[in-house]
Amino acid sequence: MLTGEQYVASLDDDRRTYIDGRQIKDLVTDPTTRIAVELVAQGYDKFHSSEPGARNPLLTPPKSVEALRDIVGLLRGVDMLAHTTFTSVMTLLTVLPQLDATYPELAERVRTHLNFVADNDLRVTEAITDAKGHRALPPGQQADQDAYVRVVERRPDGVVIRGAKLHITGASLAHELFVMPTKKMSAGEEDYAIACAVPADAPGVSTINTTYAFRGEDDRHYPMSRKRQMPDCFVIFDDVFVPNERIFLDGQTEFSAIFAHSLGLWERLGGVGEMAHDADMLVGLAQLIAEANGLSRVAHVKEKISELVIYATLIRAGLEAALANAHSTADGFVYPDELYTNAAKYHGAAEFNVMARHLIDIAGGSVLTAPTIGDLEVPELENHIRQYMTGNPEVSGEDRLRLMHAIRDMVADAFGGWHYVTNVQSGGGLYAQRIVTRKHYPMAEAVEMAREAAGLGPRE
Ligand SMILES: Cc1cc2nc3c(=O)[nH]c(=O)nc-3n(C[C@H](O)[C@H](O)[C@H](O)COP(=O)(O)OP(=O)(O)OC[C@H]3O[C@@H](n4cnc5c(N)ncnc54)[C@H](O)[C@@H]3O)c2cc1C
Repeated sequence: MLTGEQYVASLDDDRRTYIDGRQIKDLVTDPTTRIAVELVAQGYDKFHSSEPGARNPLLTPPKSVEALRDIVGLLRGVDMLAHTTFTSVMTLLTVLPQLDATYPELAERVRTHLNFVADNDLRVTEAITDAKGHRALPPGQQADQDAYVRVVERRPDGVVIRGAKLHITGASLAHELFVMPTKKMSAGEEDYAIACAVPADAPGVSTINTTYAFRGEDDRHYPMSRKRQMPDCFVIFDDVFVPNERIFLDGQTEFSAIFAHSLGLWERLGGVGEMAHDADMLVGLAQLIAEANGLSRVAHVKEKISELVIYATLIRAGLEAALANAHSTADGFVYPDELYTNAAKYHGAAEFNVMARHLIDIAGGSVLTAPTIGDLEVPELENHIRQYMTGNPEVSGEDRLRLMHAIRDMVADAFGGWHYVTNVQSGGGLYAQRIVTRKHYPMAEAVEMAREAAGLGPRE
């Protein structure tokens, strides 16, 4: 397994990556990516073992509900690239039995490649969301044929792909981009039914980074985002050659949707785990700032905190139910329940902004206007800041200042904006979670129950 230091060294390859109109020469020292690289390196050190043959525990296929629960527990607090690696690998493990049955040669390539990833302790991103062009038109009817990633040339030893995948978390810091079709492709759209693994430094691949990371030098008043940074990337595939052994699907349109479905499940499970953690954080911040303001016994404040508590508890309940009702494939690979995973993800995402509103409402305007830690260190300002930032005298002015920073960072600044959009769009967006939830809900039972209650009798 790699150490953090070896991971950092591995980034010194031919990747082309950009930010704010310039090429990043060194991801390890660039101010916009430095901390994200450090976090990934820490993730490597956390799991490192020098035992021969040791593998990242996040990549071990769970064979029991307990093993699945343990692996979800391991995800807590790891960097986002460890998350996307886990999600990508679990996605491929989930589709394997379906490929096995019809295309055993493709399934064998997937197995070989997963072993390659595990043996070399690589980090992987999920490159699924296409540019998409005109949203109402399918890939085959777009004015721009490259609006969805497609095969533009087939050779005896592989294919050449062209297009772009958007919003790809951590693509500039990963070793491998797992390219998958974003939706079901129809007959005639064979060129778009392409799933493959592309090295992040393959000729023709460029990434453009966006980040919520604070761009100034002193980031101490960003206590949340300074520990949770990861760029999201616009990934361009400008005629990229992919050798046969890295191709997992090429033209089998009937299988094009299974990748997106499996990815959605694992991505949303990871999202629910993150949201359960963040929801508890919102509760803790609300309670602490209510105490610091001297309002923790006031009725409307207590009610809002109760709502936050119910929100957090229901996300955790959904996560537990998704694990407790897990299913397994024919070869014993255990995966979470779709209905509970999607319902919990939807609840956590859809209600997040209301909960953020409660927190801001309780906290007050200093969420935006509290001076920084740097200001606190100016001798002629220090006592004034301590004095006027004090609310309830049982809590120091500095602690109340730091709480305001944490709340601003979490829900009202660049990282807060990222949360706002990510909750609505990630994991395929709220619409996708509504569709999957409805598909897996036992509708027939509910309908029968309602018919009986209404005196309609059983359905013919
Ligand atoms: C921070 C962040 C990180 C992400 N990370 C990743 C990642 O690592 N890998 C990855 O592959 N993706 C990633 N995503 C992408 C995410 O899954 C998409 O943003 C999401 O699926 C929506 O796609 P879109 O952005 O193209 O928006 P659109 O598809 O344009 O959706 C916008 C709205 O239009 C609706 N809509 C779109 N098409 C239709 C239609 N035909 N009919 C009716 N309504 C329609 C949608 O339901 C939605 O309400 C990430 C997104 C964000 C914001």
